Amino acid sequence: MNEEIHYECQRCTNCCRWPGFVKVTGAEIGAIARHLGLEEHAFIQHYTRLRPNRDGLALIDKPNGECHFLEGRDCILQAVKPAQCRAFPNAWNFPGWREKCEAVPQLRRAAPPEKNGAD
Ligand code: SF4
Ligand code: SF4
Repeated sequence: MNEEIHYECQRCTNCCRWPGFVKVTGAEIGAIARHLGLEEHAFIQHYTRLRPNRDGLALIDKPNGECHFLEGRDCILQAVKPAQCRAFPNAWNFPGWREKCEAVPQLRRAAPPEKNGAD
C-alpha cells in the first residue's frame, strides 16, 4: 500500500500571524463578501490590498501583523477561507516552515495515480 506523509494542522494559528500576503481570487472574494454580508466592492475596498507584484489582491493585516480575520485562536472566515490558507503546509510551504508550524506528520494512504487515458 502506498503511504504518504500528511501534516495535520494543530490550529496553533502561527501561520495566521507571520508576515506575508494571503492571496484572494475573484471567486474567493465573492464567497468571503457573501459570508460577511458585504457587497464585493465594499469588501475589496475595506479588507484587501494590492499584492507587492501588483498581480492581484491579498487580505489586509492588523497593525500587529496578524491576519485581520484572526480572532483569538479562530479564523472568522473558516468556512470560506482562501485556498492559500487551506493548502499550507501540505500543498505549499517554505524553507524553515517546520520551526514555525506545529502541524503533526501522519502517515496516510496515498491517492491512487490518475489514469493517463490509455484504457
Ligand atoms: S484567512 Fe483565516 S486561515 Fe487565512 S490567514 Fe487569515 S485568519 Fe488565518
Ligand atoms: S502554523 Fe501549522 S499547525 Fe499552526 S495553524 Fe498554521 S498550518 Fe496549522
